[in-house]
Amino acid sequence: MTRRRWIADEWDQTSAVLRNAQAAHLARVLRAQVGQEFDIVAGTEVRRGVIDNIREDAVELSLHETLDATTCLPLVLALSIIRYERMEWAIEKLTELGVARIVPLIAQRTEKHLAQAAQKRTERWRKIAHESAQQSRRSDVPEITDPIPVSNYLSAGPDALHLLLSEHERARSLRGCLENSDGPEIYSATAPRTICAAIGPEGGWTDGEVVSFAKYGWQSVSLGSRILRAETAAIAVASVLSSWLGP
Ligand code: SAH
Repeated sequence: MTRRRWIADEWDQTSAVLRNAQAAHLARVLRAQVGQEFDIVAGTEVRRGVIDNIREDAVELSLHETLDATTCLPLVLALSIIRYERMEWAIEKLTELGVARIVPLIAQRTEKHLAQAAQKRTERWRKIAHESAQQSRRSDVPEITDPIPVSNYLSAGPDALHLLLSEHERARSLRGCLENSDGPEIYSATAPRTICAAIGPEGGWTDGEVVSFAKYGWQSVSLGSRILRAETAAIAVASVLSSWLGP
């Protein structure tokens, strides 16, 4: 039987603590008991955990053998901020698909009120990523960075293959771009290279943004002749890249 997985709030070599909302859920909703076993993510490891003590604000577990950890994909999704429920859905699904990091981008056509509220929404997005990571039995939670304007993000690009998902691109498909690139072996979540994919807002990229991305070495790629909603494009690119990168 698969055990339910929890991400520890605190841990050391032999024990871990789940606090607050997680502890309350275990104690009140699941009525967990001392001696019950769970998979516990403790930093970069997954361990078998046994409950030693249970309170509504803290559940203490002893940690036992190390279990297999799943690795995230070496994939960064720079997702322009879109309407709340769609953004939240995208964050949940991208977490399930295994992306390493999500960067909420403030694009020129990101609606003003969404851009203004973005900073306040970030904690909620992190919470969604946390819950989705546990539910999909990930060994880590994807990082959700603070929201950042496109112009600042461009100048901060790490060493990576940079893909601009563009509804204006006709000539270069994502598939063609991957076929012409180095093989997937050189990509890894930790080193040496990652893949960054940027998705525009509901109104799409401005011409100026497309030019700026190109100046910083981002390659425009198409997902086909149909126009997808931003959140669909995000899931599609993560799925194609995960299949290309292999197990
Ligand atoms: N409002 C625009 C579409 C924006 S779609 C229009 O009607 O033309 C939002 C984002 O999803 C785009 O900026 C792009 O990043 C991505 N996207 C949508 N369809 C795409 C496609 N066929 N190929 C690549 N990216 C696409």
